[in-house]
Amino acid sequence: MAIENGLSVDVEEWFQVGAFERVIGRDDWPRLESRVEANTDAVLQLFDESGVKATFFTLGWVAERAPKLMQRIVAAGHEVASHGVDHRRVFTMTADAFRADLARAKKALEDASGAAVTGYRAPSFSIDRRTPWAHQVLAEEGYAYSSSVAPVVHDHYGWPEAPRFAFRPVAGAPLVELPVTTARIGGRNWATGGGFFRLLPSAFTNWAVRQVNDDDRPAIFYFHPWEIDPGQPRVADAPLRSKLRHYSRLSAMADKLRELTRRHRWGRIDAIAAREAARLG
Ligand SMILES: [Zn+2]
Repeated sequence: MAIENGLSVDVEEWFQVGAFERVIGRDDWPRLESRVEANTDAVLQLFDESGVKATFFTLGWVAERAPKLMQRIVAAGHEVASHGVDHRRVFTMTADAFRADLARAKKALEDASGAAVTGYRAPSFSIDRRTPWAHQVLAEEGYAYSSSVAPVVHDHYGWPEAPRFAFRPVAGAPLVELPVTTARIGGRNWATGGGFFRLLPSAFTNWAVRQVNDDDRPAIFYFHPWEIDPGQPRVADAPLRSKLRHYSRLSAMADKLRELTRRHRWGRIDAIAAREAARLG
């Protein structure tokens, strides 16, 4: 039987991405057009058609504004997990501020969904060598797993020396870290999910998933609801490089996702984390 891989969606608005943070401030958010609920419903529909279950790492900000969406995610058999309150990167916070952010997001998600939150994904994979305290805080707050590390070199994020596969970041604590999947080419780790999946040919992602599965490990894949929304408003004054990344191939994304979800086995990240925890012993 093929290995079950982890499928995840980082639930945030089209304007809550790191690439636009210099031109769209948090003060602007309330007056911008909300599209996250419709886009996430489209993702739920796509997953339903493909018969896959997944984890929705959701901002507390979204849960507070769209509680019914959280209930629809849970009712469809998916996992709701935390993506923090408002997409502040972990390395911009103190340990105390991080703990407060975790608590507020968890309360918003659990109040809205009625389901317990046991997993966390840092905004922009911002747990790295600058945040040696972050996993400790997650362990103390009782999280079963985190999927917050990208073991790559990238201009916005990355912790290239981190393990590529599940590890226990805090000695003596059950917390498991599931790094996002990288492909190994020429002695280097290459990112695979999110914009990389959207911009690169499907054959690359399929090959990367098979490469990881051939090592007997599950792949951890992610994307965003705004990536399947060609109708989202355009941010005119964003840097060109950010615009190229953000807007390319949005209309092809849904079909690529359909193909990906049918080609490999996928499941919720909490289930993958439990299996990896058992393997780590
Ligand atoms: Zn995010």
